[in-house]
Amino acid sequence: MKILEKAPAKINLSLDVLGIRSDGYHEVKMVMTSIDLADRVECGDLKGNRIVIRTSASYVPEDDRNFAYQAAQYIKETYHIDRGVEITITKNIPVAAGLAGGSTDAAATIRALNKLWDLGMSYSEMLAIAMKIGSDVAFCVKGGTAIATGRGEQIEPLPPLPPCWVVLVKPPVSVSTAQIYKDIDSLPIVHPNVDAMIRAIEHGDFASICSLLGNALEGATMRKVADIAKIKAHMKVIGAEGILMSGSGPTVFALTQHESRMQRLMNGMRGYCSQVFAVRPCKTVSLLSEYE
Ligand code: ATP
Repeated sequence: MKILEKAPAKINLSLDVLGIRSDGYHEVKMVMTSIDLADRVECGDLKGNRIVIRTSASYVPEDDRNFAYQAAQYIKETYHIDRGVEITITKNIPVAAGLAGGSTDAAATIRALNKLWDLGMSYSEMLAIAMKIGSDVAFCVKGGTAIATGRGEQIEPLPPLPPCWVVLVKPPVSVSTAQIYKDIDSLPIVHPNVDAMIRAIEHGDFASICSLLGNALEGATMRKVADIAKIKAHMKVIGAEGILMSGSGPTVFALTQHESRMQRLMNGMRGYCSQVFAVRPCKTVSLLSEYE
């Protein structure tokens, strides 16, 4: 039996860092949305009791450093499963880009193994596994548009975004999320208005969503990656309605409701970077297929 899940990337529309907790994690308040830039994660039965990972990207680890491996391992331990699994990950999401590529693969693995091994895990049981792996995995279990608080594991759903295009530009550098969180402790933080963003989404107010885009990590990453400021300035000239860096970066996204502007952004930004994507927000995660 094989289960194939779509594993969408996320972007942060608002990301605030409220402080450091006694457990060493940062307290955050974020609004995230899934987008139609997705990996494919297939889980299939394997003889024996091993977890085998195969990925289409040579620089993604295929051992226990892979978040999908960790998801399978935690599920095996928690539910005492003595079965093997082969997890095949087709990567489309750029790695270490601020798009939660590894986290969404882990979340897709949790959903797939719930079906493959007929575990009947509830949403909160899936979240309990997700939390052990990383802060963004909880959001990725259901995807859509949501508020994430705590260290990112407390999820409250929001209505979907108004119809729009998301144009993403990934500069040719990778950023360590852990390093950026370290850096912000010694830098002044610009706090976005997360509550106003939540109200704008609840009202389906696209203009306000664009004007309220904000990310407390942006300043720290911009100090390391000079391209971000250039990309933002160029997107503005082309006419994007809203522009922001996602997560800890370095990917920058622009929002627009006009197809012609989306095309102009795609064409204009291709001259800047080789990794440019135009996608739609994605309302939920989905099972792609299930077969013998
Ligand atoms: P976030 O936005 O959640 O901070 P990110 O998009 O910046 O994440 P990822 O693409 O998840 O970053 O990659 C971060 C690290 O995770 C990489 O260094 C990579 O080696 C490791 N990793 C583990 N599992 C995966 C996976 N399935 N896909 C991609 N990277 C993975």
